[in-house]
Amino acid sequence: MKKLMLTTTLIALTCTSGAFAGNGVLSQELINIARQSLASIQSQSFKSKREYCGLIGRTTAGELIVSPARRGRTSGCDERGFKDRTITPLASYHTHGAFHEDADSEVPSTMDVDMDHHHGVFGFVATPGGRFWVIDHRSRTAKQICGMGCLPSDPKFDQGMAGEIPDHLTRRQMAQREGKGGPRHLRARALKNADK
Ligand SMILES: [Zn+2]
Repeated sequence: MKKLMLTTTLIALTCTSGAFAGNGVLSQELINIARQSLASIQSQSFKSKREYCGLIGRTTAGELIVSPARRGRTSGCDERGFKDRTITPLASYHTHGAFHEDADSEVPSTMDVDMDHHHGVFGFVATPGGRFWVIDHRSRTAKQICGMGCLPSDPKFDQGMAGEIPDHLTRRQMAQREGKGGPRHLRARALKNADK
């Protein structure tokens, strides 16, 4: 999960669709740079048990630029907008920290989707299991670009505890996972019973 902190200037920029060609295009170039950025911060994210996050934008010259990753919390990370207001934000990126048996961290959260949707940017997510997801802010869905282990994964990652992970999720399905009866809820209950 994460919260996105962008200034109103940035929001205004991303909302003027059409003014920034390429804003709504999920290009291979964008995917590649997100993948590189996430791969480089995975081990740091596992060791510190914190999320890391940042933004990818486009300069007026048409170059893609990545903001340095910020260290967030165990579950949450606040991205900062580009200081240079001429840079158009295209996507957010964040890791999901270290593996924890009680967190449903192999999938993006509804908060991830809502923030990206609000700011009109794509979202890239790396999980402890090394999954690489992209959130489409327009359809409010997420799909795996590549599966388990395609990004560096947490050595402590337990595939069995992560449960079944679909290739594609709608926001509604994410909400169901997060709700009562979802994997996180069931696992928390199982752990509680095991303690008794
Ligand atoms: Zn997240």
